[in-house]
Amino acid sequence: MNIQRDLLTVNPFSRPGKKLDKVKALAVHWVANAGTTAKQNRNYFESLKDQSLNDASARYASAHFIVGISGEVVQCIPGEEVAYHVGAKKYTPEAVTAFGYIPNNCTIGIELCHPRDDGQFSTETLRAAGELCALLCIQFDLDPAKDIWRHFDVTAKVCPRWFVEHPEAFDEFKQSVAGAVNRLRR
Ligand SMILES: [Zn+2]
Repeated sequence: MNIQRDLLTVNPFSRPGKKLDKVKALAVHWVANAGTTAKQNRNYFESLKDQSLNDASARYASAHFIVGISGEVVQCIPGEEVAYHVGAKKYTPEAVTAFGYIPNNCTIGIELCHPRDDGQFSTETLRAAGELCALLCIQFDLDPAKDIWRHFDVTAKVCPRWFVEHPEAFDEFKQSVAGAVNRLRR
């Protein structure tokens, strides 16, 4: 698949340059900014580097990959480095059991763009995200049925909205990834 590598500058707010531990799961998100492109969201993460470390309200955010509404895929962070996508003050018990207290250290973050505020994903986004997740499941030896998490499952944040409000759509997505993994492994 065509992945545009457009890496962020190493900086404290979006690309700390730290090595990931063993990858235990993929975490999917929505960008929560309807109609924006993968590139625009990548540029937002890049813009965070201009904040001051003295700013108590500074934002820390990034993801490894962003999948756009047309199915375009932008990679912001190398697969062996930490991104800031599931950090929180409190984690679900399931997440603590699976990842310990710093889930960002062992998860790959994938942001999905969406045309509207209801968060429903385009067919193109779902197709590209499914293919990307399948490749990552093979690369990191993950099981699509249990190693793909919603941000919601890690912190209870309503993200990605469509998959939280339509859990059957998330199940269908994981099944499509499992199908793609089987086809790629054959
Ligand atoms: Zn999220």
